[in-house]
Amino acid sequence: MTKTNKALVIGAHPDDCALGAAGLSVLLRKSGWHVTFLTMTDGELGGDPQLRLDEERISASILDVGLDFGHLPDGSMAGRQTVEVLEAKLELHQPNLILTHAPTDSHADHRVLSDSLVSAARRNASVLFFEGPSTLQFGASLKIDIAGVWDLKVQSLLAHASQRERVRTVEWAEAAGRHRAWPHYQGVCEAFAPVRMDLSLMVEMAAQMTMPVNTVKHTGNKTTPRAWSVV
Ligand SMILES: [Zn+2]
Repeated sequence: MTKTNKALVIGAHPDDCALGAAGLSVLLRKSGWHVTFLTMTDGELGGDPQLRLDEERISASILDVGLDFGHLPDGSMAGRQTVEVLEAKLELHQPNLILTHAPTDSHADHRVLSDSLVSAARRNASVLFFEGPSTLQFGASLKIDIAGVWDLKVQSLLAHASQRERVRTVEWAEAAGRHRAWPHYQGVCEAFAPVRMDLSLMVEMAAQMTMPVNTVKHTGNKTTPRAWSVV
């Protein structure tokens, strides 16, 4: 029996996982992986927590990923408690690929989560950082073309309707995606920075991944990425 690969994408607040890794998550799901978003707080500082958790459920269902919650206090995540929750969640989910915030971030919860994950995942071979609107320096050394699943990323971000006025998430995802695509791709990319990566898992991922047809249209010297038309 072949094993099923599992990815655990960990964000501090509802919408963080989709911002950083919605595209990769969909591509992994289409390749037969299990993907779970673990959201560590209920996001109560950014709005009604029940509404925010409902939005996260809608967003996850659009991406066809599983969902788990840490229910830690928004805005005051603390290192030791966060490490303990993460260790329990890693034991529960048994992921062979873990993604979370980069440590250089202007949001304190993101920094605490990133540092805590590095400790909690010390026995895990493959850990990647993703980026978001509050990321500062970021060593984007792994890129993936998500143009073929861009529409799903946009829909998953729009599902967080209560946040549209606070954080222009789709605009950030478009700007970052186009920036990360340059100069190797013509559409949109997500970028990641490995803490460490099991090379055999990377080879396996690449072999499994059936990339959707890139929707970039070529018209003479001009290229028009159709993916942008949804924003
Ligand atoms: Zn956040």
